[in-house]
Amino acid sequence: MSTESTITIGLLLPDVLGTYSDVGNATVLAQRLRWRGIPAEVRPITAAETPPTSYAVYLVGGGEDTAQQFAADWLRRHGQLRRALESTAVTLAVCAGLQILGRSMSDASGHHYPGLELLDITTAPGRRRAVGEVIATCAIPGVGSLTGFENHRGVTTLGPGSTPLGRVITGIGNGGGTEGVLTDRIIGTYLHGPVLARNPALADHILHQVTGQVLPPLELPDQAALRQTYLQRR
Ligand code: GLN
Repeated sequence: MSTESTITIGLLLPDVLGTYSDVGNATVLAQRLRWRGIPAEVRPITAAETPPTSYAVYLVGGGEDTAQQFAADWLRRHGQLRRALESTAVTLAVCAGLQILGRSMSDASGHHYPGLELLDITTAPGRRRAVGEVIATCAIPGVGSLTGFENHRGVTTLGPGSTPLGRVITGIGNGGGTEGVLTDRIIGTYLHGPVLARNPALADHILHQVTGQVLPPLELPDQAALRQTYLQRR
């Protein structure tokens, strides 16, 4: 039996931001922990709940404009969770999730609303929806190229103090050539896929932050082959 304590992955609002199957990122993190003998559980946190704030890692996914407005309000109402995301947890935020952690957003109908201000970014609608495959470099050493699928209207502008997660090779990402945002505690990205299934090194980077351990590599030939297929499409 393992003597390690269980790592709980907090899956925020799967009932609201579940449109793009980003919930799969939780499965990937949990399974990659279990394969290394570390007990893990996924804890979905729905809109009806008061969110637990003690988890090491939180995930927030993509969704439609109305769903993301609801999610932004919900997150703002739960200030203790905001503090956890700011100071104790590691967070992966995808697309709508990325946008709502920023300063503000506007949507296609012209509605302007505030975000959580955890990231120095603002988002406004672009002229056309960005839909398709993305390949980007990644600013995190050792992660290599990122592959994913994007489907969004928002164009995200990074403030002067912000570091992009990567640079776009194929696709749109934030718009303006960058993809996502990276801070000490938050990885924000436009990439669906789910992104951690397509980019296992990014999953292991998060798990390294969460566990403090260098995790042994996993040999998953099918996954490596699929990843190569996507990366060769540039
Ligand atoms: N509604 C947002 C946009 O279109 C986010 C979409 C998403 O999460 N895929 O920009």
